[in-house]
Amino acid sequence: SLSLLEVRGLDLYFGTPSGGVHALRNVSLEVPAAQIVGIVGESGSGKSTLAYTVMGLLPENAEVTAGAIFFEGRNLFNMPSSARRGIRGDRLSMIFQDPMTSLNPVRSIESQMIDIQHHDRLRSRREKRARAIAMLQRVGIPDPDSRIGDYPHQFSGGMRQRICIAMALLVEPALLIADEPTTALDATLEVQIIRLLKDLQEEIGCAVLFVSHHLGAVAELCDRVAVMYAGEVVEQGTVRDIFHNPAHPYTRALLECDPGRIRKRTRTLPTIPGDVPSLLGVDGGCIFRQRCPSAFDRCRQEKPVEYRIGPEHSARCHLLSEEQKVSA
Ligand code: ATP
Ligand code: SF4
Ligand code: MG
Repeated sequence: SLSLLEVRGLDLYFGTPSGGVHALRNVSLEVPAAQIVGIVGESGSGKSTLAYTVMGLLPENAEVTAGAIFFEGRNLFNMPSSARRGIRGDRLSMIFQDPMTSLNPVRSIESQMIDIQHHDRLRSRREKRARAIAMLQRVGIPDPDSRIGDYPHQFSGGMRQRICIAMALLVEPALLIADEPTTALDATLEVQIIRLLKDLQEEIGCAVLFVSHHLGAVAELCDRVAVMYAGEVVEQGTVRDIFHNPAHPYTRALLECDPGRIRKRTRTLPTIPGDVPSLLGVDGGCIFRQRCPSAFDRCRQEKPVEYRIGPEHSARCHLLSEEQKVSA
């Protein structure tokens, strides 16, 4: 049976004046229902591009050249755009690093929260307003009864992110996509927002795709993790697999330069030596070879396939070629 979300063999290019930027490379990923899947990787590794592709919110210059995305068993790419819009904001919702991406500055929270329930034809406006107030209360907005008429600028950054979470969950989505929702907040607020997301996810029973730079936050919140590098998912597995038994040299490097590992909360992804390669016309071979401490001849000539390491654990690295292949 299919997972709630299945991304299969996705390739995506951005058209630019200097050529095609190959931003997603044969990306495959699953999000089972009611689970939290983290996506980690350095800046520019394609995390947001993947999130936006699932949401159907790609810019004009993006082109998907291969692959499919199945959501609740339906291929999102073979769907009329009206059906796609129907899924977005009803079964699928998203929160962003900057809450103002989803909030309209010139409309009250009340009208925006009633609007977002437009798929719901059974409830009256009064009932929708009551649901909105209850949800604001749940996410920790003080005195929501009197504040629901306020405008976004009348709230602090942390409160605005809580309002975005309330809006995204009001529709009771099957999948919430959260793209670095805590990166703009201070450490104390981050902890609060992570706990809130976890509690609400359990209450609502939705799945979450959680994009983050913060290994500590991912270890705390997620069931599964996908590690991205230069547009590729280089390793994926359970939180235990990734943090206690990392197999890919890139994942190992990330964890090694994070001395506190998962005990200490890291605010940003640690830096490992070297730069992410340009995504313009990268040739064959392993995408990580220029920075990999274990690179050998084969890594220059041949692209590693995905090797299975455990029931849910796989990685793309020639060092694993003794293990069983997932795909040839
Ligand atoms: P960050 O951690 O900084 O948010 P990210 O992992 O979310 O990074 P993306 O924003 O998905 O990375 O970008 C992946 C690659 O695609 C980068 O090389 C980026 O420069 C490129 N890219 C993203 N959007 C566009 C666009 N609209 N046009 C051209 N290139 C783009
Ligand atoms: Fe390093 Fe080679 Fe493995 Fe790539 S395939 S991660 S270069 S050892
Ligand atoms: Mg991003």
